[in-house]
Amino acid sequence: MTTTSDIRHHTSDIAPTLDRYHRQMLLPGMGEEAQRRLLNATALVVGCGALGTVIANMLARAGVGHLVIVDRDFIEVTNLQRQVLFDEDDVEQAIPKAEAAKRKIAKINSQVKVDAIVDDVNHTNIEKFMTMGDTGMVDIVVDGVDNFETRFVVNDAAVKNRVPYIYGGAVGCVGMSYAVLPHSAVGNSDETPWEKAGKATPCLRCIFEQAPPPGINPTCDTAGVLGPVVSIIANYQCVEAIKVLTGNYNAVNPNMVSIDVWNNTMKQFKVAKAYDVGECVCCKKRNFEWLDGKFSSGTTTLCGRNAVQLTQAQDAGKLDFDEIAGRLRPHGGVTANKFMIRAAIKDNGQDYELTLFNDGRAIIKGTKQPSVAKSIYAKYIGA
Ligand SMILES: [Zn+2]
Repeated sequence: MTTTSDIRHHTSDIAPTLDRYHRQMLLPGMGEEAQRRLLNATALVVGCGALGTVIANMLARAGVGHLVIVDRDFIEVTNLQRQVLFDEDDVEQAIPKAEAAKRKIAKINSQVKVDAIVDDVNHTNIEKFMTMGDTGMVDIVVDGVDNFETRFVVNDAAVKNRVPYIYGGAVGCVGMSYAVLPHSAVGNSDETPWEKAGKATPCLRCIFEQAPPPGINPTCDTAGVLGPVVSIIANYQCVEAIKVLTGNYNAVNPNMVSIDVWNNTMKQFKVAKAYDVGECVCCKKRNFEWLDGKFSSGTTTLCGRNAVQLTQAQDAGKLDFDEIAGRLRPHGGVTANKFMIRAAIKDNGQDYELTLFNDGRAIIKGTKQPSVAKSIYAKYIGA
């Protein structure tokens, strides 16, 4: 008779071998050495929503040995249409996305080490997350982010520390992907492997400077998003990540890819010259404005959520969850777990949902106005 624990035991018996990657190792450019490179690699997945769940899922299955997954949010029922690592139980238990992803991946591939971090990625912490690799710096950063502010912060950190960064974005039925293989500072003779291969690419700011790219600008608040387009883009990011992590720099697409799955258009933008002809403030002038916090606001309107996040509204160490939960209870339904407190609040006839995380962040649902969110926070949690 086979019991559940027998099956698990059997699974862990085969885990240390390369057998499970056999079909992948048959591919050109892969093989055993490439597979070992994946197993020894660390990938930082920034954001674990629509893109991030697909990315984490595929990289874990491919055998990327260490994933650092950072996400600030928890799972809601409207996420399930496209966020493939989550299910209805996760919604019911109000589990943070990073934590739920870690639990799922443990069942998918127990060889993979996962660090799940429930936090907002911003200029104060991105470099800390980037140094969580097994040998210090992570080997790659893969973008599962839903806003351009965070992307520019990640781009700055990736260029400064010379870590490959795979951009991806999708809204409506359109998605884009692009691999940043950073240039070193002019005059730095210590070349990266991709520079030695002649394959460095322009950074995100070489291409976009400030404005979001056309087609990505309509927010997912209004445009919605089709699950499959997210999946296509995230998988494309994974392809490029696997090429980079296995040292197949010649195979990396130097172009920016844009796919509109509804209108059946697939475009490639030749961006290679953007580095040579431009005076990029980031990768040429080495002025990391986003990483320096020059444009940081401390509040973020969350994509598609009618919600505002307040970053580090309180010092995490000062939060007394029990006391706060007790104080909020008279205002309406309060639920709490070790990650967060959530309270339904009626204020001036308006319904809000306040979620307070144990790192001090808060998400106020029911408004897109940072000023309203701040006043709700001040009123019910404290200044
Ligand atoms: Zn640049």
